[in-house]
Amino acid sequence: MAPKDFENKVALVTGAGSGIGREAARAFASRGAIVVAADLNEGGLAATRDLIAELGGRVLTAPMDVSSEAQVRELIARIDKDLGRLDVAFNNAGITGQAHRIEDYPTEDFDRVISVNLKSVFLGMKHQIPLLRRTGGGAIVNTASVAALTGPGGMSAYAASKHGVHGLTRVAAMENAAHGLRINALAPGWTETPMVKEASAQNPGFAELATSAIPAKRGALPSEIAAAAVWLASEASSYVMGQMLVVDGGMTIGG
Ligand code: NAD
Repeated sequence: MAPKDFENKVALVTGAGSGIGREAARAFASRGAIVVAADLNEGGLAATRDLIAELGGRVLTAPMDVSSEAQVRELIARIDKDLGRLDVAFNNAGITGQAHRIEDYPTEDFDRVISVNLKSVFLGMKHQIPLLRRTGGGAIVNTASVAALTGPGGMSAYAASKHGVHGLTRVAAMENAAHGLRINALAPGWTETPMVKEASAQNPGFAELATSAIPAKRGALPSEIAAAAVWLASEASSYVMGQMLVVDGGMTIGG
């Protein structure tokens, strides 16, 4: 049985309607948290809600767009009004965007990826930090990627957004370390979620090639990445601040 170390704590998870976010929402709920599951995808959120209900966990769903400041502000105000506190925020929603060389990358698509992956983390933290601090501190975990450390060809917007998440995380950690609020980033490698399955379907053979190049010879299960997010949000990592935890089956070991 999972320890109940998040009992009565409020954990906000974005991108909770699929993949890593769904597994993290389940993991926080199984450890006693009241989960606020946010996502654009209402069907995905309903499925996450049902999975958490099966565990006997507590969850509120919030259909919203993480790149809209009005919607982020409204969500945090609702958490404050209905639950009175915030202890954990896992800013995880993201998209890959298209694959094109920089000279061919449509500028509006570049803007969209930056907005969903990077501006959302800024907006999330901007509105989460005052509530987290007012209600006793806690932890923020932001999802970056191994693309925060590398320059995957064709993925300029994605890599730039994830490098940006790493930088924002460090600044936020520095600003809040003395205030009982720890902020870290998580850098997953290849993870078997719908995001990756979609990309592989567009490029047959790529998944096999990519996973055979990973030292572990397989992609991660979403639950393996979620476990690292929960650890970063838990008291077990109480002295870890401003770091980016790479969870990639050894993908980046060789440089
Ligand atoms: P996923 O596609 O399974 O889940 C992402 C979720 O984010 C979806 O439910 C989607 O509806 C939601 N979302 C997208 N745009 C949104 C918006 N504007 N507002 C609210 N919700 C929105 O993908 P995943 O693999 O679970 O990805 C989660 C995070 O992990 C992303 O930030 C991604 O970049 C990162 N990541 C994934 C991998 C991987 O291999 N899967 C690797 C490194 C990093």
